[in-house]
Amino acid sequence: MDYLLRGQAVSVRILKAILRSGRIGHAYLFKGPAGSGKTALAKQFAKALLCLNGDSPEGLPSNSGTELGCNECPSCVRVDGDAHPDLIMIEKDGTSIGISAAHSMLKEVLTRPFVSKRKVFIIKDAETLTAEAANALLKLLEEPPAYVNFILTTANESAIPATVISRCQVIPLRAMPAEAVAAYLQEVHNVPEDRSRQIAALSDGSIQKAVWLLSQPDGQKANGEALTDKVMNGSLVELALEYSKADSGERQKLLAALQLEFAEKLSQAAMEYDKRQYGPDNSQAAVLKRNFEALKAIMRARQRLSANTNAFLVFCTLFMDMQRLNSEEI
Ligand SMILES: [Zn+2]
Repeated sequence: MDYLLRGQAVSVRILKAILRSGRIGHAYLFKGPAGSGKTALAKQFAKALLCLNGDSPEGLPSNSGTELGCNECPSCVRVDGDAHPDLIMIEKDGTSIGISAAHSMLKEVLTRPFVSKRKVFIIKDAETLTAEAANALLKLLEEPPAYVNFILTTANESAIPATVISRCQVIPLRAMPAEAVAAYLQEVHNVPEDRSRQIAALSDGSIQKAVWLLSQPDGQKANGEALTDKVMNGSLVELALEYSKADSGERQKLLAALQLEFAEKLSQAAMEYDKRQYGPDNSQAAVLKRNFEALKAIMRARQRLSANTNAFLVFCTLFMDMQRLNSEEI
């Protein structure tokens, strides 16, 4: 969990202050961008709330160490093993959390905890609660039984009804700094340090994206190479049409593959570049500049796509930029 403590130091400090104060709210909302570790942090906070080694009247841990929870008692061990009967994870079924999930929560809160002194519900992606489900839960969020706590998470606070938000204490998380993403890859996926840094640099501060990049390094590279080849030699308009018809996840994957390809070209060019040997106006400098400009164009395209700009125009512009850069005299 070192990566969480490094990446979300501020939020962790807030949570520890809450635990130390002994004044635990009924409901918390962890908000932060996708891949910022909201669920992982929610689990850590739940672990501290459920820990059996607490010595305060509420049973909360008073240790001021670096971790949340003692990590040793049967409760902490069960949370780490995803097998705690008093920690209930609510996730969307398909695209939403519907009324049946709300009803089962209403029922579940009535039984007392088995192992710990509390019962914690983590509601993932709370923006996917249907209006009906959110309404059904309002009363419960405001006044649950004393032994119940809720932790809601969201990357899209504006899609949650104000009536829900007003019943929660909001804990903001930031995008993960690259060094925390690298630490995560090393800690959880045993990725060697060099590679973890490379991937982290392309992850936009998202653990999800880093895991995705990790999962398909070879296929992705082949994609990037194949596409670069098509762009340089094919018909721009046809290609832009083809790619603009892909679904949004597919488009982002495509651009991520291109970005990875050019990021590698750029770092290769940077390593080979030796100013003293060639002087400032040499072909190495031009290669460096060309790859840098291409990378910038790709990143711009990714931003514009996520801002819902017309995909066809985004791809046309990108492919034109890339062809122009390629044909520039060096
Ligand atoms: Zn414990």
